[in-house]
Amino acid sequence: MADQKLMEKIVSLCKRRGIIFPSSEIYGGFANSYTYGPLGSEIKKNIKDLWWQRFVRNREDMVGIDGPILLHPKTWEASGHVAGFNDQLVDCKNCRARLRADHLVESALNIDCEGLSDADVTKLITENDIQCPKCGKKEFTEVRKFNLMFSTEMAKAETPSNSHLSGGGNIAYLRPETAQAIFLEYKNVVDSTRVKLPFGIGQIGKAFRNEITPGNFIFRVIEFEQMEIEYFIYEKDWKELFEKWFDEMKKWCTDIGLPTENCHPYEHPKEKLSHYSKRTVDIEFDFPFGKKELYGLAYRTDFDLSQHEKFSGQKLRWRDEGGEPFIPHVLEPTFGVDRSVLATICAAYTEEKLEDGSERVVLRMKPVIAPVKVAVFPLMKKDGMQEKAHEILKQLQIFGAVEYDDGGAIGKRYRRHDEIGTPVCVTVDYDTLQDDTVTIRDRDTMKQERVKISALAQVLSERYFS
Ligand code: ATP
Repeated sequence: MADQKLMEKIVSLCKRRGIIFPSSEIYGGFANSYTYGPLGSEIKKNIKDLWWQRFVRNREDMVGIDGPILLHPKTWEASGHVAGFNDQLVDCKNCRARLRADHLVESALNIDCEGLSDADVTKLITENDIQCPKCGKKEFTEVRKFNLMFSTEMAKAETPSNSHLSGGGNIAYLRPETAQAIFLEYKNVVDSTRVKLPFGIGQIGKAFRNEITPGNFIFRVIEFEQMEIEYFIYEKDWKELFEKWFDEMKKWCTDIGLPTENCHPYEHPKEKLSHYSKRTVDIEFDFPFGKKELYGLAYRTDFDLSQHEKFSGQKLRWRDEGGEPFIPHVLEPTFGVDRSVLATICAAYTEEKLEDGSERVVLRMKPVIAPVKVAVFPLMKKDGMQEKAHEILKQLQIFGAVEYDDGGAIGKRYRRHDEIGTPVCVTVDYDTLQDDTVTIRDRDTMKQERVKISALAQVLSERYFS
């Protein structure tokens, strides 16, 4: 069930506390573009660092790359994006709302438009008197295909020597997925490292899609980040490795704090698979606006490398000692960064009624994801306490971003840090100056405890950061 109120509260908290801002606000805003604020950029970085550590550094069968956003234009012909990365678009003639035609038909008639031509969908809309969801009128343009890739013009025009490759003009595309940059470097990675089949190449980076109906906060945006793996395998192993990767993805969800009961596998029906895929299973998450795709795992067969061989004329093969060269097959686990941030915030957001009748909002985030690891407060803005608090803060920077806060009543400071998910707060008071102890206060239980400063880092490390 969609919970619009909850979503509004989350969006408002994100703005108020510097997690995510609507971008370009001083110019009146720019639709569906967002800035990760001081705290949001920490959450995002924590997720990306954790992913890189887990899937690239901690695995002997993985390496990483960092490829460009602008790739050779032929890439997108080979991958099928120029011909097929389209949505069906329709405009309302009255209010000019721009809509996904297939979504319009699906919600009005409960008919799946997969495989229907533009003319067929136009017919369905007119013959069934479908109304515009924005203004209620029934006048639409014809349905037409809209390519989701952003194109841009290069200053440098093609040269005679490369014109046979780029197909004319000086148009380049902003990559709509990070995956293709990996396929383009398959050969370089094989030639320059000691990888052995099966192995994977991971990458984190921006992708751009000219979405017709972006929305639901950072769920569907036009500029986003992906964490993707292309895992090269022997064809015979695909079924077994598919299951293994799906388990890895489920474990990742648990480790970033997403409850198992809110994560659901969705098997794409055969007739709806993308042109490159033989099997795709998504992990859907219960967002406040409904159950939606969070991540995906696809078996891309040898489609991409074969296509790039064809279009580039270069051999992209693997050869075992004494064997014949062949094109490896590929499994692709893909993770949206922005959807990960949103899912972790939604899963962590909790409203609690306290014994004294008051309420508090807590982001019950895993410490590894929390934007501020520890907050340190001097009880009063008094001699010695502030200096001591700064001194302790320095020692605790080993855990990541830490924050000093001496503004307002101590209770208010706790509440602020509950709202942004700080796992533990440390308070310096009068006793600290006498006996070198501080109070630590746990976000989830609100329990307080006295700890020696000399043992503080050790205690916090064991309880929150190990
Ligand atoms: P959807 O069906 O929601 O459009 P998709 O199936 O097209 O997504 P993929 O092409 O599989 O998505 O992209 C891989 C991942 O990238 C998705 O699982 C998602 O986490 C993320 N992603 C895709 N499109 C967007 C977007 N417009 N905004 C934010 N994240 C996105």
